[in-house]
Amino acid sequence: MQNQQMAQETLRRRRQQLQRVEGALQRIELDDFGYCALCDKELDNRRLDIDPTTTRCIECLDL
Ligand SMILES: [Zn+2]
Repeated sequence: MQNQQMAQETLRRRRQQLQRVEGALQRIELDDFGYCALCDKELDNRRLDIDPTTTRCIECLDL
């Protein structure tokens, strides 16, 4: 039972990650990649290198 719950949790996270990647690809297509979703500021390249699915700048992260 516990194994099944863990497998479901893993699956849930993978689906979430997949959605984030799809979102990032969509933004590349729309030429909107690399900009904060909230304030439209350019995102730090170093952060995009670490996580290309990042959608918010440092200032908007906690909002
Ligand atoms: Zn922002």
